Parts: sequence; C-alpha cells; structure tokens
Amino acid sequence: MHDKRFCYFDNNATTQVAPEVVEAMLPVLTEHWGNPSSAYEFGTRVAELIEGARTKAAALINAEPREVVFTSCGTESNNTALSSALRLSPHKRHVITTAVEHSANIKFGRHLIQQGYDVTFLPVESDGSIDIHLLEQALKPETAIVSAMFANNETGVIFPIEEMAAICRYKGVPFHTDAVQTPGKLKLDVKALDIDFLSLSGHKLHAPKGIGLLYVRSGSRLQPYIIGGGQERGRRGGTENVPYMVGFGRAAELAMNSIADENIRVRALRDRLEDTILKTIPGAARNGSRVDRLCNTSNISFPNVEAEAVLKKLDQIGVCASSGSACTTGSLDPSHVLMAMGMSPARALGSVRFSLGIYNTDTDVDHLLAHLPRIITELQAETP
Ligand SMILES: *Cc1c(COP(=O)(O)O)cnc(C)c1O
Repeated sequence: MHDKRFCYFDNNATTQVAPEVVEAMLPVLTEHWGNPSSAYEFGTRVAELIEGARTKAAALINAEPREVVFTSCGTESNNTALSSALRLSPHKRHVITTAVEHSANIKFGRHLIQQGYDVTFLPVESDGSIDIHLLEQALKPETAIVSAMFANNETGVIFPIEEMAAICRYKGVPFHTDAVQTPGKLKLDVKALDIDFLSLSGHKLHAPKGIGLLYVRSGSRLQPYIIGGGQERGRRGGTENVPYMVGFGRAAELAMNSIADENIRVRALRDRLEDTILKTIPGAARNGSRVDRLCNTSNISFPNVEAEAVLKKLDQIGVCASSGSACTTGSLDPSHVLMAMGMSPARALGSVRFSLGIYNTDTDVDHLLAHLPRIITELQAETP
C-alpha cells in the first residue's frame, strides 16, 4: 500500500494513552501493588496514591476531592446517577434526558421504560441545539432526575448546561451531566455550573479504558450501584483500580494544560479540514451548529455515498474516522443523533465524523485532504 500513514481522527471514540500517563501508572503496577484498605504501610502508601489521584481529578472540574467517586467507565457513572435517583425516591418514576445522548443513557432510558418508568427524551433542533423551554415544560412533580450531555460525541454540539441545571435547581430536581467529551476542550467548573452529578471517562482524556469518574456534589445523596466493601466512602464497592486511578489523575493534569492547544492549534486543524472539505467536495454539508461546538469535532454528510464505504476506503489509506451508524441485527441503522436533528436516513447514513486530538498534525490533515475528494467521487460513480 503506497502512501500508508496512520492518521487517527477518531478521538471521540477513544484516545491514545499519553506516555506521561503510562509513566505514572507503571510504578503502581510493579511496586505499589498493595491493597489500599490494608492497615500496614505497604497498603496505606497505596491509599495515599489514590488520594493524590482524586485531588488531581477533582481539580480538573473544580470539585472537592471528597466529591469524586472513581468508577469503571463513563457508562457506569451515568447509570449510577440515574439509578441512584430512582432508588432514593421510589415514588418518583419520571426521568428526563435528551434524544441525542450516548447509548449509555439512551439504552438505559429504554430499559427504564421496560421497567415501567416514564422517560422523556427531549428533542433537538436541526442544528443539534436544545430549546430549554422544553425542559421547563417536561418537568413534573414525579421527575426524579434530569440527565443531559454537556457536549455531543457525534456532532460536538454543546448544550447550555448551566441554564438547564438552574431550571432543575429551581424546581428542586437533581441534575446530572455526561461531560465525557469535554476534558481538555472546555473549562469545567462544577461549582459555577451548580450541578449535582457529572460523569467523565478516562479513555476519552488520554487515560486507559476501564476507569471513570462520577462527581457527587457534597450534600447530594448517592445510592451505590456496586454494593460491596466500603471503598470510595461507601459509594462504590470493589477493591480500587489503583493504577488506573493514578493514570486518570495524571491525565486530568494534562487535560488542564492542553486546553489552550486544543482550542487554538487543534481547532485550526479541524477548521482547515472542514472548510477545505466543504469547499472542494460538491454537496458536502456540516451536521450540527458551527459555533456552539467542541473545537475538535467535525461531522460531515456526503451526498450519494454510504459512510461505511467511505470509512473502508479511508482505512485503506490509514485514516481512522467513524460514522454514528449502529449495527443492529445485521442491518445498519442511521445515527439516532442525526435522525433526532431531523435528517433523512440517507443523509444520516452518508455522514462521517472526524474527531481530532492533541496528537494530530498538519501532515495528518494534508494526508486526508489529498485523498478524500477522490474517494468520494469514486464511490459516487459506483452508486447507481
Ligand atoms: C464514550 C462516551 C461514554 C461512555 O464512556 P465509557 O467509558 O466508554 O463507558 C458516555 N458518554 C459519552 C458522551 C461518550 O462519548
């Protein structure tokens, strides 16, 4: 294969573990492998490593360390927040979320409906934005919790979380946000946002897969999802995943320092990629708001092609990108996010997401731009 490079434009799916994170984790795997609950020094030293990581993770979102609960992933954090609210108020059987959430919330919401709960999936506008008056109208006395994502993983569109949280606080309903896509891109301040719960995931911020975080505002109650030992102040059972917690802590530090790089350099790469595609490929169109959007994400639809075919051709030249389509029972379903924005199934199925990150360079963008117009033309010629 000529001109084979590896260009990773799928940072919203997962990110490369930062070398600094690996370096921080290694001594925990090789030397500090004691049980943090043990009373002897070989254990208590490990407990200190956890608290160091917790302090760093808390700093990323301006929380107090004791408000941070480590989990196994973003999905667990989201499930924990919703499930806890329902179990703490058994008489409240209504949940509000949005139609464009990650499947962690969409599928959990559908599961709740099967269990007899009432779930509202708030609709979005054609640019992916949300009309917060619909949230006001959807709130009921039986609403146990509202959960809305901070930034969309497919389009990058950002929701007005502070305003949504304020509406919920006024009505006395707990508010959770899935902020998995925001570290390193947006400044996070749970105190200013005035929210109850927030989810993060390690592998979206250059830590490994298998570690997540749930922020629980002090004073907000949490019913543990995993019941066992008294770890995480009784809020999440199971012997702690210390190496990954330490990795998360280091990644949180790096994310705080990479906000400028992401918002200046990565944004410029994304804009050049997107603007050139829209200018050079006839009929190509951006999906989602241009302005209220993460600096790294570009979701583009191409006419008369299937995204899956584009992704296969891109793979042949070493480019990783993705579509929001989901393969269910052998057939390809268009992205629920793009469908909720009112797109036709054909346009949704012809949409590709490019999500950039701190390790991308101008050369990566040049490589993609050198091949993409030809790939699209070739595929369009094959389409009857
Ligand atoms: C990736 C992602 C998740 C799931 O996180 P995991 O750690 O993979 O479970 C949840 N929400 C959003 C917005 C995501 O992008």
